[in-house]
Formats: sequence, structure tokens, C-alpha cells
Amino acid sequence: GAAATKPHFVLLSSPGIGHLIPVLELGKRLVTHHNAAVTVFVVASRSSQAETELTTEAAAAAGGAPGSGNFFNVVRLPPPDLSNVLDPAAAMVTRLCVVMRELIPAIRAAVQSLAVRPTGLVVDLFGTECFVVAEELGIAKYVLGTSNAWFTALTIQLPVLDGEVEGEYVDQKEPLEIPGCRSVRPDEVVDPMLDRKDQVYIEYRRMGVEFRKADGILINTWEDLEPTTLAALRNDDFFGRKVIQGDILAIGPLVRRPTRPSNPTSQDLFSWLDQQPNESVVYVCFGSGGNLSPEQQIELAHGLERSQQRFLWVVRRPTGVKDSAFFSSGKSEDMDGIHHDLDNRYGLPEGFVERTRHVGLVVPEWSPQSEVLSHAAVGAFVCHGGWNSTLESVRSGVAMMMWPLYSEQRMNATLVAEELQLASRTETMPWRGVVGRDEVEGMIREVMVGEKGKGIRERVKAAQRSGEKALKEGGSSYKALEMVVKKSC
Ligand code: UDP
Repeated sequence: GAAATKPHFVLLSSPGIGHLIPVLELGKRLVTHHNAAVTVFVVASRSSQAETELTTEAAAAAGGAPGSGNFFNVVRLPPPDLSNVLDPAAAMVTRLCVVMRELIPAIRAAVQSLAVRPTGLVVDLFGTECFVVAEELGIAKYVLGTSNAWFTALTIQLPVLDGEVEGEYVDQKEPLEIPGCRSVRPDEVVDPMLDRKDQVYIEYRRMGVEFRKADGILINTWEDLEPTTLAALRNDDFFGRKVIQGDILAIGPLVRRPTRPSNPTSQDLFSWLDQQPNESVVYVCFGSGGNLSPEQQIELAHGLERSQQRFLWVVRRPTGVKDSAFFSSGKSEDMDGIHHDLDNRYGLPEGFVERTRHVGLVVPEWSPQSEVLSHAAVGAFVCHGGWNSTLESVRSGVAMMMWPLYSEQRMNATLVAEELQLASRTETMPWRGVVGRDEVEGMIREVMVGEKGKGIRERVKAAQRSGEKALKEGGSSYKALEMVVKKSC
């Protein structure tokens, strides 16, 4: 078939919508812009309708018209049985690493049985142990860093920090140095660095070692967004070997292109948005996994109400476990009917939904976020700092208010709010204390009607244009991906 004559990349996505989305986007671009063939391996999750929708949509977009010669295939791998290998209380990242480790035999078998031999393997950051499959076949191996270059730099530096720093990272008095990059403040280290005795730390340190073994690191950022950090990553001393062109590749922003969804729940949501003035709505959502404490949920609600701004809030039942939705999120079939008694079900102040009906829309569990952010009515985004959400906001030119919860979100908040100034951020650290209603109100008003918001909006729109330029034919991200494909020919 047509695929036999093209470079053929096998892409491997670890569980989680936040990993699946950039992997699928990478696959689409390889096929539609660079004429490669792509097979995506997805670790099937228990419940997620969103996952099915995303893969179907990607296949339709990349498959092209019949006879186009496009080759884009999605293979679902059944999740492994972890009952004997994983402590049920293990950290999320540990779980992700163990899932991928347990799947190596299945992945090996699936890759070997492909009708067309692959020429390259791309794993996301949790799949680096699967490099072994590429090594056995003698094909190129790449890692896709689904977050920014600064986080990638910390990951690569971790084995060095591990030897230099004594005691817990969070207890350090001085920032953690990454040569050539912005330092990392002790209180913004990634979750896997919070306890050096936990398995999750060992797993993360191993990832840092394995990143350096890749034939190339693809990062979901672009040259003009993080020029200094990208230059630092390309330093031989930093990387621990001679870095050649094509080793560190900024290929983003890989963001899902919005398509207006057709299900009835979304129709209501979009007809509401259609009625709101341009850039007047604050969109509030904490990613696929984010969750607040009951007390925080109440404070956020009051703050939103007091700000007197229009809002669209994707609510979850507050559990107080900040990443509790990670493995189960995504709209499920039976959710379409849940539209009554939201105050009670979602731990909102008594009467909140009724009182804010004229300005706000409370959406249970899940929204078509990429589409929402690209709607003209949305003016700002209270964002947990997940990198996909951040890029979607930039792509749509929407100002952000960073409210980091877990994983590398504290670093992302610093990068976006302090370094790039595309956002404001909560002064209270939401992982330590409760962001009070006054602070919520003030932050929202400052971005929606204050001077600070104007500056942020201008800079976000400039970043939006620079991201578009990077992806265009001849742009830096376009050329970086082209290089990967050419090397593989
Ligand atoms: N997402 C969505 N609807 C929601 C919540 C999240 O479509 O209600 C999507 C969002 O657009 C993004 C992804 O899920 O593409 C979440 O990835 P991100 O990196 O922002 O955060 P994570 O969920 O991994 O923390």
C-alpha cells in the first residue's frame, strides 16, 4: 500500500486526555503536512467518551478523502492488570509509568505485527522505557515533551540536581539552578519532586536519564516562545553529549483545532455563548483532572459572583484531592441529563445557580474546551496551568489567570504569568491555602476590566500570532517536524 513507501511513525500515548491530545495532533501534522504514515497506540481508558471522540475526530481529519493516500491508524491497547504491581495509593505519575512498563510486551507484539515496518517510534514522557522496542528494531526513537521547554529542562537536569542537592527540594533556601534557564523556586517544583523517598521521584529521575537517550526530543513549544531555554537545552554540557541539529525540536503549539460539536448539551452551551458580548465571559476550568476542596469551591463561587462578570464554569464535585478526576474525566454517556440541582450536587453555595443565572452558566464535569476558548465571547480563562489548556488559550488569544494545582502546573504558572506575562496568577498558592473570595473577585476584575488585563491581552495576541507563524509552512515548528521526517526517509 501507499504507507510502504512513506516514513512510518508509531506514536505511543500514555493514559490521560492531556497526553492523548498532543500525540494525536502530532500524528495529524505528520500525515497532513509532511506526508508521513502514522500509527497511534492509545492505552484505552475505562470510561472516557472524550477519548473515543478525540481519536475518531483525529482519524477523520488525518485520513483525508478516500484515495488521498493518507495513512493514519489508531490502535487501542487494553489497559494492563495492575493489581499485583501497583500500590493503589501510588501517585498519578507512578501509575502512568507502571502502566507503560507493564504494556511493553503488548507494545512490542503490536509493533512487530504492523503490516508496514515503522521507521520511528515517538513516545510521550511517560513512555520512555518503551524505547527498548525501537532499539530492538533498530529504528529512531523520539520523546514528545507534552509540556514546555522549561519543564523539559528541569526533567533533564534532575539526575544532576539529585546528586547535588541535599534534603527535600521544597525545603531548599535557594532556587534550583538549571544552567542557562530560569531557576526553579523550591515551592514550584513538580509534584514528583516533593518526596525524594517516594517511588514517583525514582520514576521521574529515570525519565530524566532516558530523555538524553532519545534520538530527538520534540517539545510542544516554539522557538519564539522559549528561545533562551531552547538554547540552553542545546548546550552540549547541559545535555551531556554533543547536541546536533535535530536533537531538540520545538514543534508546537500542537493544539486541537476547534470543530463545533453537535451533541445537544453543547448546543445549549454555544447558543448561550452566542448571546454574550465579545470578550465578556470568564471561562473557568481545571483541566481534565483538576479538583478543588469543598471550601475552595465555595470561595471561588462567591468570588465569581462578586466580580459581576459573565462566566462559564466547568464544575466538578469537590473532593479536595487535586488530581482526582485524572483517570476518569471526560464526558460520559450518562451525563447529558445532569442539569438540575447543581448547587447541591456540586457543592456550590445555596442558590448560586439561580442568583447568577443572568450572567453565568454552570456546566457539569466537562466542556468542549478548545471550541469554547475560540468563541468570540470568551475574554479570560481561569486556568489550572495544564500545558494543553495554556496553549489553547494562547491559540485563541485569551488572557489567563493561573491557578495551579498539581504536576508541573506551578512551573507553568510562573512561566506564563511571570516570564511571558500572558496571565495573572493567584497570590495565594492554591496548593497550600484557600484562595479567598476577595482575591478571586480582585483577580477577575483586574484582568477583565483593569489596566493589567489590557497589557496581558495584547501580549497574548502577539503570542497567538507568533505561534501561528511557527506552524505555517516554512515556520520554525514546521521545519523542525520536516527535519524529523526527512531523517527517517
Ligand atoms: N479539556 C476539555 N474539557 C474539559 C477539561 C479539559 O476539553 O472540561 C481538555 C482541554 O481542552 C485540554 C485537555 O483536556 O486539551 C487537558 O489538558 P491539560 O494539559 O490542559 O491539563 P491536564 O488535564 O493534563 O491537567
